[in-house]
Amino acid sequence: MYYIDPHIHMVSRTTDDYETLAKMGCVAMSEPAFWAGFDRGSVESFRDYFRQLTEFEPKRAAQYGIQHYTWLCINAKEAENVSLSREVIAMIPEFLDSPNVLGIGEIGLNKNTKNESTIFLEHVDLAMEHQQQILIHTPHLEDKYQGTRMILDMLCADSRVDRSRVLVDHVEEHTVREVLDRGFWAGMTLYPVTKCTPQRAVDIIEMYGPERLMPNSAGDWGPSKPTAIPDLILEMRRRGHPESLIRKVVYENPLEFFSQSRGFRFRAPDATVSKAETP
Ligand SMILES: [Zn+2]
Repeated sequence: MYYIDPHIHMVSRTTDDYETLAKMGCVAMSEPAFWAGFDRGSVESFRDYFRQLTEFEPKRAAQYGIQHYTWLCINAKEAENVSLSREVIAMIPEFLDSPNVLGIGEIGLNKNTKNESTIFLEHVDLAMEHQQQILIHTPHLEDKYQGTRMILDMLCADSRVDRSRVLVDHVEEHTVREVLDRGFWAGMTLYPVTKCTPQRAVDIIEMYGPERLMPNSAGDWGPSKPTAIPDLILEMRRRGHPESLIRKVVYENPLEFFSQSRGFRFRAPDATVSKAETP
């Protein structure tokens, strides 16, 4: 089955991973800008990172027939450095017309601090000024519930924000309902240690239905599994879910969400596949 991974950090992965993902049916992916594992020293460091995301990774992915898209921002961890964050935000428009850019992300909160909120709102402003879609990172573990609510409140207070163009990521059982009820898209991150397992993600799909819900691997430089979406496909098949439902969450939903971005120039891998495909 063809699928799209809406959240994966390929700058941290090897070319062998691209090959494996292609063999498993991955036809497109989107890569939000994130924390490198250390704080970067200057705006030039981010400019080089954005060149990697807009120039190098699409070419590396294309060698395996995978379409690579990206989102730009300074992440919530480094947002504590407000002056550097403002320099990065001022530089981002240089890249917004690059052919694989979908929008601003992954922005959000990490420890739910005042500086993080300030920079989050300035990113939202940037997105609104340039009619960009938004991809949101919600905090981990004990900060998740409160941080998610803070983020949703900030977004809902801005009448310019079209919620159908915002993906709120890393939802879990205690945050998914509010995200969907308030009209946003929700992303479930399948991680081997923290966040959702494929089993828990399938439980969530069974409880809330497939609308505006999609899984991702968020594969990065830490413990993570870039092939987590095929694991979810297997779990859904094991539980007897129809292929049409599986295809909706792993392929059609990301397609529908991304298609709202002018940077999304998706070429379907096989136009004849859709209805005729067999398990
Ligand atoms: Zn991420």
